[in-house]
Amino acid sequence: MRALVADDDAASRLLLQKVLTKWGYDVVVASGGEEAWKILTGDNAPDLAVLDWMMPELDGVEVCRRVRALDLSSPPYLILLTSRGDKHDIATGLEAGAADYVQKPFDHDELRARLLVGRRFAELNRKLLDTQRELRRQALTDPLTHIMNRRAILMRLGEELARAPRQGLPLSVGVLDIDHFKAVNDQYGHAGGDFVLQSCVDRALKALRPYDALGRIGGEEFLIVMPGVGPRDAEIVLERLRKIVSATPMPVQGQEITVTVSIGGAVSEGESMDELLHRADDSLYRAKDAGRDQIIMAPRPAPQAPVLATTTETASPPGCN
Ligand code: GH3
Ligand code: MG
Ligand code: MG
Repeated sequence: MRALVADDDAASRLLLQKVLTKWGYDVVVASGGEEAWKILTGDNAPDLAVLDWMMPELDGVEVCRRVRALDLSSPPYLILLTSRGDKHDIATGLEAGAADYVQKPFDHDELRARLLVGRRFAELNRKLLDTQRELRRQALTDPLTHIMNRRAILMRLGEELARAPRQGLPLSVGVLDIDHFKAVNDQYGHAGGDFVLQSCVDRALKALRPYDALGRIGGEEFLIVMPGVGPRDAEIVLERLRKIVSATPMPVQGQEITVTVSIGGAVSEGESMDELLHRADDSLYRAKDAGRDQIIMAPRPAPQAPVLATTTETASPPGCN
């Protein structure tokens, strides 16, 4: 575990460095508060720090205060080294953000034990963060296909819809639905259906570019978000996707079956997310009605009719008022 030793006194710094290294810490040293602050906020910041209280320019307490103000998700465990025994000073140090303090000259056993507490704290915090990250990943991932789930892909679409006009770039979506999927389930069982779902996703991912996003929005229904893609390219990408799924049969329980998909595409015209998805959905249903195994792009939405004046006043000709 990385630990910082910050002390302006060279002899004290060297002693601390020596004992912490002996106790198995990967020690990094600072000869002042500013340097300590830089190390604590830099890349690969240490999990533990022993900070001398009295340092010129920036003292240990101020370093604690600044670090605490950052409100980090995994803050370093800060131990203040103080020759002051005054109770008020100790309270000041702890309130500023120090986790603990050790009096100077320090007792070796005591410092080692207190560092051990910090080590446990840092390890526990890391586990907590890992768990949090994993829970978040699970909350946004479809457990069967390991792609984004409905919530995640709609969040992504929301972000891309906000970004597209700022960057002046087009944005397209596709809603894909596997054809006659119920028949696959009926014939090959749920496990066979699951295999087909996974295979469709594997194939679809091959047809998409790294910045396109694919998510599962329902049973056998998927949403494709294509940032930077306008009308012509949307059709090309979606057609490539449709073809790649049905190009070769899938081996399901010893049999080869050809799976086809229908896709409804729509290019964003600056409407709301619901309206955009509604247009893509409409196109999907038209593709189904037209015989499946095809893509249909949504027509551009009809321009909004101008709001008619409801007053009886006659409009003044331009330039008359
Ligand atoms: P269409 O061509 O009109 O889309 O017909 P379809 O049979 O694909 O559509 P329908 O909506 O009638 O049936 C979809 C089926 O998908 C029904 C449901 O049991 C199945 N399904 C939904 N989620 C899963 C899943 O996670 N695994 C499996 N194996 N089947 C699923
Ligand atoms: Mg279907
Ligand atoms: Mg469906």
